[in-house]
Amino acid sequence: MKSIFGPVPSRRFGRSLGIDVIPAKSCSLDCIYCESGPTTSLSLTPRPFIDCAEVLEELRAYVRANPRGAEVFTFSSAGEPTLYEPMGELVEAIKKAYPDIPLIVLTNGSLLWKPEVRRALLKADRVAPSLDAVTAEVFRKINRPHPSLEPVQIIDGLRAFRKDYKGRLAIETLLVEGVNDSPDELFAIAEAVKSIKPDKVELNTVVRPPAYAGTRGLGRGAMVRAAAFFSPLDVEIIGVFQAPAIGGSPENLDQRILDTVVRRPCTAEELAASLGVRLELVEQEAGKLQEKRRLTRVSFGGKSFLHPG
Ligand code: SF4
Repeated sequence: MKSIFGPVPSRRFGRSLGIDVIPAKSCSLDCIYCESGPTTSLSLTPRPFIDCAEVLEELRAYVRANPRGAEVFTFSSAGEPTLYEPMGELVEAIKKAYPDIPLIVLTNGSLLWKPEVRRALLKADRVAPSLDAVTAEVFRKINRPHPSLEPVQIIDGLRAFRKDYKGRLAIETLLVEGVNDSPDELFAIAEAVKSIKPDKVELNTVVRPPAYAGTRGLGRGAMVRAAAFFSPLDVEIIGVFQAPAIGGSPENLDQRILDTVVRRPCTAEELAASLGVRLELVEQEAGKLQEKRRLTRVSFGGKSFLHPG
């Protein structure tokens, strides 16, 4: 298993080198909007999917070859990173080796009720858990969770984590039209988020091809109205990635494109910006990969996304 990918075009963090320690697609949830497709292994049990030393060696090799390639390291996968064991050991080793590069963990937050999962994330610079629903019915509809998960347990876990965690905590709420955007649910989510006391709230919506057909995002006006529920918290409506291209190498471009889109569908422009190469080169390689049926194009929201073939 290859554990380093990207850098990927993160809408929130710029050029983010992905650390993926979970095989696709093991998750505790099966969100209807997931960019990585439906969950194939719905689980709550952490496992040593890959050796810690192997991940560190891959990271070292990347940094040696691309000293300025990544602005941040981000645990992000086609799955839930806190299902990795030993997560705490790996987080600590990365921070020891690269104290100056911010380490971010994107998590669905659904396992933070476990004390050992909370402890594992304490040394990360930024933790961004999700909370999309508060009522059990909406939670089941949008997140399609493991049957033993309940929203109240997740919210309690998030509150407990906030008490011990000294880094930056940003809660992400993703809104799906007609699913979790009613005034009642928005009010309930906002109250729960306020009780967690995060540093920031990031309101997101469906902007890439979702796991389940018919899942639609909200328009700008609806997002602004939704943001008002979270006042006085610091709320950001997530925009699109706009980091400028840097002088990246076109070496192995076909493989790097595949490594990126297998985890998250991207437009050719996003790939060019994150991989630091000219758009024409991405289009050229994407065309060849399409001919070999290793890539395909999916239209969503008026954009063309490259997707594994
Ligand atoms: S969006 Fe995240 S939490 Fe939801 S199914 Fe996909 S990987 Fe799991």
